Amino acid sequence: MTAASEARALFAARFGHEPAGTWSAPGRVNLIGEHTDYNDGFVLPFAIQHRTHVALGPRADAVIRVVSTFDDAAVELDVARLDAVFPAERETVAEWARYPLGVAWALLRATEVDPATVPGIDLAFASDVPVGAGLSSSAAIEGATAIALTETWGLDLDRVALAQVGRTAENEAVGAPTGIMDQMASMLGRRDAAIFLDCRSLDAVTVDLGFDAAGLALVVIDTNVTHAHSTGGYRERRAACERGAAALGVPALRDVSEHDLERLAGLVDDTTFRRVRHVVTEDQRVLDAVRTLREQGPTAIGDLLVASHASMRDDFEISVPELDTAVEAALDAGALGARMTGGGFGGAAIALVTRDHVDAVTDAAHAAFAASGFAAPTVFTVAPSPGAARDA
Ligand code: ADP
Ligand code: MG
Repeated sequence: MTAASEARALFAARFGHEPAGTWSAPGRVNLIGEHTDYNDGFVLPFAIQHRTHVALGPRADAVIRVVSTFDDAAVELDVARLDAVFPAERETVAEWARYPLGVAWALLRATEVDPATVPGIDLAFASDVPVGAGLSSSAAIEGATAIALTETWGLDLDRVALAQVGRTAENEAVGAPTGIMDQMASMLGRRDAAIFLDCRSLDAVTVDLGFDAAGLALVVIDTNVTHAHSTGGYRERRAACERGAAALGVPALRDVSEHDLERLAGLVDDTTFRRVRHVVTEDQRVLDAVRTLREQGPTAIGDLLVASHASMRDDFEISVPELDTAVEAALDAGALGARMTGGGFGGAAIALVTRDHVDAVTDAAHAAFAASGFAAPTVFTVAPSPGAARDA
């Protein structure tokens, strides 16, 4: 069963009637530009074919109720209570339900709509985005909810505003201090293209990838090591970036050039220095990747992916042995480039390969994991795909 029909079936089974419609939003992979988003820098993600679908139906009262194939229990809240619950009492809501209910809250706040005027709604979610794999199932559930509620409630928000609503929900209603990249990719995705995003201005430009025409495929190697963004390592990296920017007297690491790094060396400890060096060089690699894609096409970006991985492994220290093994195995098996993608501490690696190398890279990843005593990875290809929309 597809995730869209699963959402409809879940809706019918739990609520006893057919939904009014289904909407969906994709997960994403980030081609390059990691931990640059909250530093006001550059990223180059694309939406993937894996999507979270939501089946929606109106209610006669003013209750918002959510269910998901992900969790047995339904969660209900009066629309009028959203403002009391978020963010102060968010702990009273089951964690997964903070994503969709947080989006409802953030949507009404962004549009200054009086919750008392909003009709209740039932939402049923199903997804084929792997959760916690670094493919942003969180942005997918936020994006699906945001577009479904916006169209149903007749709100007037463009796609960039909907991405911001998703981020607000994730930051304030869930409590995960993430950037805007995932939501922008999920809202703005295009077939066969990436989104070159300036995270300061939120200017987003579509960059053709041309994987098909070049005979390339993008392989995802999900290590099945789950990460937890809301905790430890992610916050520490953000704090180090803020320390680096403060030491140089700039608003964000976006404003630091590779040349400035010499000056920084005397101002901060070695760990902070390396954290900053990752972000500054990664911003430059995103700019280089965009130029290379435009001038030479996708086969020429492999070395930038490899350099990005080395920087995350050695300077930002967010890789894990499983990710390093996936990257090395892919490169040994003939990938043009490979790197971990997403926030790190687990999740997935990506490998850019010619189509005739997909099987060899897949086999090599499985063999390398087995040889290291790691649990088997999940390996699949992703295609640059359209963003959030009502399902046909
Ligand atoms: P990632 O975005 O990398 O997949 P996150 O930790 O950011 O990982 O988000 C995963 C969380 O999002 C899940 O633990 C769950 O709370 C929520 N979530 C994602 N997809 C769904 C879904 N289809 N149904 C319910 N909750 C979901
Ligand atoms: Mg996420």
